[in-house]
Formats: sequence, structure tokens, C-alpha cells
Amino acid sequence: MAEAAINPWGVTEIKDYTRLFEDFGIARFAELLDQVPEPHFYMRRGIIVGHRGYEDVLRAIRDRSTFAVMSGFMPSGRVHLGGKMVMDEIIWHQRMGGDAFACIADMEAHSVRNISWRACREIGVTEYLLSLIALGFDVEQGHLYFQSENKQLRDLAFDLGTEVNLSELSAIYGFQGETHISHMISVLVQNADILQPQLHEYGGPKPTVIPVGVDQDPHIRLTRDIASRMRMFRLERREDPDQKPYISIRAKKANSRAFDELARRLEGEKKIYELHIDLLGIEEPQLEETMRAVDETVRAVELEYGGYGFCLPAATYHRFMQGLTGGKMSSSIPESYIALTEPPEVAADKVKRAKTGGRVTIEEQKKLGGAPEECTIYELLVSHLVEDDEQVKEIFEDCKSGDRLCKACKAEAAELMYSFLKRHQEEREKARELLKEHERYKHWLE
Ligand code: SF4
Repeated sequence: MAEAAINPWGVTEIKDYTRLFEDFGIARFAELLDQVPEPHFYMRRGIIVGHRGYEDVLRAIRDRSTFAVMSGFMPSGRVHLGGKMVMDEIIWHQRMGGDAFACIADMEAHSVRNISWRACREIGVTEYLLSLIALGFDVEQGHLYFQSENKQLRDLAFDLGTEVNLSELSAIYGFQGETHISHMISVLVQNADILQPQLHEYGGPKPTVIPVGVDQDPHIRLTRDIASRMRMFRLERREDPDQKPYISIRAKKANSRAFDELARRLEGEKKIYELHIDLLGIEEPQLEETMRAVDETVRAVELEYGGYGFCLPAATYHRFMQGLTGGKMSSSIPESYIALTEPPEVAADKVKRAKTGGRVTIEEQKKLGGAPEECTIYELLVSHLVEDDEQVKEIFEDCKSGDRLCKACKAEAAELMYSFLKRHQEEREKARELLKEHERYKHWLE
């Protein structure tokens, strides 16, 4: 079962991405691609493979209306190329106009991996945040935080906990009697991370996208469920016996004052029952637009009467990179990954030793061509080192035809990796200086 393969704290290897769509209801990102303005190359190249509910974020990008992007990093080891993918996606959305949030999940690292608070701080800043800023995160416009320092986040987590019980966490994450309570709390804190950008303090409810690897989908699904449960009203499209559409609005957590206020504000033909309203006389072509307008009115009433009015958070999912040695990338096998903080010459050597999709002999390769789809070098080039799509296409075709040979190809990738890391590490030093002088963040480096 693919279900067992998706686990935020396990070692995840997805062999067949089509099962994500069939078994989990993740939508294919490719279906939205032509609507994305200036898509990132992760999107163009199918590295971002799926999404949930990204349509609302896309609409906000196109309309230049408010939206947010948020993701987090567990400070449990060195920042590597997998983390870079999330960082690049946060930064891309920030540049597209999103209010950007990046969190260091120190409560998760402390509770799940038993990492000391001091180490969480050290790793969080010097590995993750410096690289995020070096890659282009705008510190002035965005928000950086540690979970443990954020009281508002912890208060929200507590509130969200009113809508989740132990049986549900056990079903999703396999929690059992011996699971630590703080591990369970860290799940709620992550739910709160995802919904925090929609708090009043940050401008209220808005479309929010969480760029993650597919292993994080359980958190996304749970948070979407909780966000929906926290709403005071439930909106549904329905059809009457003559198949005419109508909108049903039911009070779930709303008191009678909020309900009366909503009934007063909703325009058009309506039937009002006890804590339930049906909006009638809506023609199919106007249904979607009317739903959106009604949703706005409902949300405004919820906010006025003390609710959160959350929009369902969206997510994009990127593929996992395979390890350089083939198989999984593992922090216990240094040869299998490249850290953004390791000496560029060490990283370049790892690239030269990486597993390729080449043939056993040069003659065979020239005759039969290589297998770029199985090659870790090609994956590095596509995912991180070559910006130009035409060049990527050329590399693929030259490899397939046997015109490209592995020794030269590896040397080229090693050189690109060396230059990238050298430049990145210089930018990290500038980021360190920036943080040191930043009023909000300087205490992290003291
Ligand atoms: Fe991989 Fe390059 Fe060899 Fe092709 S030529 S298999 S892309 S290393």
C-alpha cells in the first residue's frame, strides 16, 4: 500500500508517483502549468509533481491579490539539496507577491529527534536560515521564526487541538500508547504553522500554499481537515430533485447571533430554517462565482463573531531526489547527499563518484546511449545546476543518443556544483552579517 510509504518521520521512497494521484487525491501539477505566470523550472520540469487546492493561490497570483506561502525546516542535521528545493519554492512565491513565512521546527526536532534546544538554535540559524537568505529570501518582507519562541503559534496550536483527538492522530501517524505527548503536541504546532499566516495579525484569512515533499502530505491533509472543522458554517453545493443547483449553509459552531447576522446579509432568494439556510434560484453558470461571494460573506461574519474563517491551505509537492549513491538519500551516508555548507571541492568529488545511468563501456554508451532518467548526475543538472530548459533538453538527447559520455558529463556537473556552492557560501556570509544587524533576528547569533 502506498499509504504506508507516506510518513513525515520515516524514510520515504516513492517509486510510483501515479499512485499519489490515485490513492491520495493529490492533483497533477501539470494540469495547472499553463496558467502559472513565469513558472519556476521545478514546475516546468515536473519536479513539482502534484498539488492540493493550488487553484486559489494561482488565482491570487494572477489577480495580484493577497496570498501567503509558508514552509518549515526541522533542524536535525545539515541543510542539503532537498531543503534547497523548499527554499527555492518559498522564495519564488515571495517574488510572485506572497507574504512569506519560514519556520524552524525546533519543537518538532526536540520532541521527535531529541535534539537539544541549543543545538536546534545553532542548526536552525547556521544551516537553514543562512542558506534561505543566501538563496534570496527577502528578510524585510518575510517572516522567520522558531516555533518555541512564538507564543501566538502555540496558542493557536492549543486551540486547534480542540478539533483533534488521539484516535485520529493514531490513524494518521501510527501513534500508540507509548508515543510522547510532546510528539503529539508538535503535530498541532505544525498545523498551527500552516494556518498562522491567516491570523488577524497577518491580515486575516487568505489563500496559503505550503511547498513540501510528498512525505509531508499527512500534515497537509490533517490541517485542511482542522481548518474546515474550525469554520462556524459549512457551505455546500447541492441539487434539488429537479437537478437545479442551490447553496446550503449550515451553522456548525456558530451561535444564533452569528447565524441571524448571516441570514440578514445574504442576498437573493433564500429559505431560512433553524441554523440552516438554502440559497435558491442560482443558475449553473453563476454558481462558482456566487459560491465565492457567499463564502466571503460567511467568512466576514465568522471573523466578526470571533471565528478564524480559515481558507483551506493549499500545498505543492515536489519529487524526492534520489541519493548520489543510488537509492535513498540518507543523512547517515554522507556520500549520498550534498550539504549546502560542505566544502565545494568535497561536493565536487562526490559528484564525480556519483552513480550514473551510463553503460559499462564507452563503446556500448556510444552505440546504445545512456539512461538519463536513472542517472543521479542528470537529476542534479535538471534539479539544481542548469537554468536553461533548452540546455537540459540537449543534455537529455545527447545522453540518449550516445553523443554524451559520463566522464565529461560528470566533470561538467562537478564544476557547476563547485561554482554554485562557492557562490552560495559567499552569500551565506553576507546573510550572517545581515542577521547579526537585524533588530528582530540578531539575538539568534548572540
Ligand atoms: Fe548521466 Fe551524463 Fe552519463 Fe548521461 S552522460 S548517463 S546524463 S552522467
